[in-house]
Amino acid sequence: MPLSAEPLQPLPRHQFASDNYAGICPESWRAMERANVGHARAYGEDAWTLRASELLREIFEHDCDVYFTFNGTAANSLALAALCQSYHSIICHELAHVETDECGGPEFFSNGTKLLLASGKDGRIQPSEIRRIVHRRKDLHYPVPKVVTVTQATELGTVYSPTELVDISSEARACGLKVHMDGARFANAVASLGATPAELTWKAGIDVLCFGGTKNGMAVGEAILFFDRSLSEEFKYRCKQAGQLASKMRFLAAPWVGLLESGAWLNNARHANNMAERLEGRLKKLPGISFIAPRQANSVFVDLPEQVAAGLRARGWVFYTFIGAGGARFMCSWDTTTEDVDHLADDLTSLLGSL
Ligand SMILES: *Cc1c(COP(=O)(O)O)cnc(C)c1O
Repeated sequence: MPLSAEPLQPLPRHQFASDNYAGICPESWRAMERANVGHARAYGEDAWTLRASELLREIFEHDCDVYFTFNGTAANSLALAALCQSYHSIICHELAHVETDECGGPEFFSNGTKLLLASGKDGRIQPSEIRRIVHRRKDLHYPVPKVVTVTQATELGTVYSPTELVDISSEARACGLKVHMDGARFANAVASLGATPAELTWKAGIDVLCFGGTKNGMAVGEAILFFDRSLSEEFKYRCKQAGQLASKMRFLAAPWVGLLESGAWLNNARHANNMAERLEGRLKKLPGISFIAPRQANSVFVDLPEQVAAGLRARGWVFYTFIGAGGARFMCSWDTTTEDVDHLADDLTSLLGSL
């Protein structure tokens, strides 16, 4: 990192690059402050960790086994590794974060378990893909599929309905597979679908959930929920070995308490979804923009003419074009304002108008 004599400045405006560009939400920040009093036991044996785990069990209506990691790559990688041997395989969507954005983490932490790619529209796995991939080979030379992983909300900003999840998990069960959910934006899916966390997980056949806190408004932290407790045997050792056991665990746990007790986890997600809906509404009126996937959570994916994308960047907008199936992704977060959305939409309108 370069040394700088400049004062530390934020970006000049709220951006739509990712929900991890946003800061820490007030509920999370205040809980960190409340936790920052006196001494507490280390490595998760403190009252905050206990409370956060209890709250998650309440919200999910399940006596699940809960762990906290620093980030989503580790949560996914370690949870998947717990479900497989190295000679097994994991079925994921071809655009899944575990495949495209974790630098081989799941394969590394499982000592080589192979990811097998499934297709499906709008970022969702087509359920029949599971059977096809499992049955296409039965010989000794093929890594035996053991897990299906789904992302909720998906990498294209769509969601799986409870019925769609049941379709996936039924196929998986019939083939003897476990089901893992990458829920980096799980809260956005809950807000979008109006279903309960239970209906979107264990009641739909999900065995393990990686529940994202960072993109929801925390500084760092994801929770891993094992609904099938037999799968988390020795999981704590995996976390420790991978450098994911926080010694001052209370500061990973306290923000969960702040978000869950206040309901901010759902309010933040709902707000981000609403902002994306507003953006979608504005962009729908513009000729020259086509949507890549239906907007169902907090992001909008569009195809932009090259000049327009360049024009946005020249006006100071930061956004990604390498995610999912290409095109531009505009992601809203807990602190996106209507003014932010309108500012972006106004710039897009003027750039398209001057083509
Ligand atoms: C952000 C994200 C993760 C977690 O990424 P980290 O940067 O490792 O925290 C996992 N899955 C999806 C779909 C994501 O968008």
